[in-house]
Amino acid sequence: MKHALRKDKDIKLLKRQRSEKESKRLFRKLIKCSDKKPCGSGACQRCTETFSAILRRAIRRATKHEDVAIVTIVTPASTAAIGSLDAFDHVNHARRLRHLFRDVPYEWGLFVTDFSENEHRTGRYEPFWCIHFHGLLVGGDVEVIRRVLANRCLRTDAIPRPYFVERWDRDVKALRYLLGLDFDRRIGRDDGSRFNPKTGKRRVCRDVRHDPLRVAQRVELLLHLHAIGVESRITMLRAQLRRTDDGLIVVPMRQSAS
Ligand SMILES: [Zn+2]
Repeated sequence: MKHALRKDKDIKLLKRQRSEKESKRLFRKLIKCSDKKPCGSGACQRCTETFSAILRRAIRRATKHEDVAIVTIVTPASTAAIGSLDAFDHVNHARRLRHLFRDVPYEWGLFVTDFSENEHRTGRYEPFWCIHFHGLLVGGDVEVIRRVLANRCLRTDAIPRPYFVERWDRDVKALRYLLGLDFDRRIGRDDGSRFNPKTGKRRVCRDVRHDPLRVAQRVELLLHLHAIGVESRITMLRAQLRRTDDGLIVVPMRQSAS
């Protein structure tokens, strides 16, 4: 039901922007989408969920006997100013991801482009779009991957935690977050607190509050997702996604001997 609700919300939101030509066009497209006649827009909840389910099936089939690391990562230079998301170069973004893992041993990877609007509670930095990757690396060593990312992803004031790696416990829930249309506004603060089991005390740390996007940003993002399309949110590493009669399969590329 959650997806029907979100879809209605987005449609209402776009309807209110109807003076803008592009929003109007997208509104007309989304409202006509049905199971019989899918609209195929990257901003459509129904079509994104359909594609996501096919993708999850392909991943489950391809990872039966492998070690899998779930990775969330902000590659360097992966931000855009509010209002200029359309100028973001996703081809270069995917290139930076491949480059980051260039010499890491693993078999293949699948990443989805994800978006958040980041800001600081005190306005210390300008709000910005953070474009990150969320996905999995198959057949690699989780510790090695974590070490590489610790060396290559620099923490900044605005992005204090540029990566997250954990071994996939085979819970399908982790895949459900892989490709969706739930996006956050992340409001950073410096006075969060965390329990330290070593000292038995709480300590002050950076923390983030997750809020829904503001209307203007939600509309900007929906228009952008519509422009790029759902499939271009996928970046494959050392593999390809191929269409079959009943969905998609992951085809790992043969590695050269070098
Ligand atoms: Zn649709």
